Amino acid sequence: MSKMKAVVKVRGEPNGTEMMMVDLPKPGPDDVLIKNDVASICGTDVHIFNWDNWASKRIKPPLLYGHEFAGHVVEVGSKVKNTKAGDYVSGECHIACGRCHQCKIGQAHVCRNMKVFGIDVPGVFAEYACIPATNVWKNDRDVSPELCSIQDPFGNAVHSVYSTDVKGKDVVILGLGPIGIMCVMLCKHAGAANVFAVEKKNEYRSEMARKLGATKVFGEGETDGLTKEIFELTKGKGADVVLEMSGSTDALTHGFDLLRTGGDMILLGVYSQPATIDVSKQIIFKYTTVRGIYGRRMWGDWQKMKELFRDQNLRKDLTTIITHKFTFDKFFDAMETMRSGQSGKVVLKF
Ligand SMILES: [Zn+2]
Ligand SMILES: [Zn+2]
Repeated sequence: MSKMKAVVKVRGEPNGTEMMMVDLPKPGPDDVLIKNDVASICGTDVHIFNWDNWASKRIKPPLLYGHEFAGHVVEVGSKVKNTKAGDYVSGECHIACGRCHQCKIGQAHVCRNMKVFGIDVPGVFAEYACIPATNVWKNDRDVSPELCSIQDPFGNAVHSVYSTDVKGKDVVILGLGPIGIMCVMLCKHAGAANVFAVEKKNEYRSEMARKLGATKVFGEGETDGLTKEIFELTKGKGADVVLEMSGSTDALTHGFDLLRTGGDMILLGVYSQPATIDVSKQIIFKYTTVRGIYGRRMWGDWQKMKELFRDQNLRKDLTTIITHKFTFDKFFDAMETMRSGQSGKVVLKF
């Protein structure tokens, strides 16, 4: 077989995505060819599909997109030593250079020369994926391909929650996209005392968070007296940790009000404009630790996921976050489901 079915952004416009036959990639000496079992749709893929402001600046069509997957290795390049045909793998989509200062000091997730597959180079919405061997992660065989395919967002959640210690703490999570929901679940599993969440728009996802153990989810119209309520619910102390996952500058500004003195502000949401923060009041005099989260630490966060997957209860909970499964042929239906917001993670089966 020399052709494969693939999802390609062929034109820079909202209707510019097509499912088409493309050449099967030929792995270079350092690459690995993988037959996909499952791919998962990310918020990033929705941006590319919709062709919003970010996508039009960053993406150069034609692009085979998608970056979340699990599959089996079918062929490796001549120099590849760390993986072989038959291995059950997923992949870190951030391709680090291995040479810059950050790469050398163990911060490859913020490599200065980073490329991302599915954004800068061809991705995984296809029957086969070809990625550098350095980016391959071997999965445990008893973990389902559906779960293994969502390690990109799950790794973001792991990076966020485990960048502080939530055990016994009062945590507030702002924004319940799939990663926010995963954070609710992880905080509960990590022993947080209370997990309060705020999701103004999406009741479907608020309900998912309640089922996964959120103490209380504040919805539309319930956020006016939020600061007062969070202080009451935490016996006048305020939240020990705020996880800002929404990307709304209002949520960020408000989030600092919810935090106790000496608390941790963890930021994963990406803002389309600068936010206004009273630094003296909210950070210095309040002794706040602010931590930006980007990507997944290579490979500490991947190893952490491997360990977390060994907990059957966590595995069961994480499985509930995958709400829809489609065959790859039904990509456009799957994308519509994701765009509707009436879903958790949506996966494609090959
Ligand atoms: Zn993703
Ligand atoms: Zn680098």
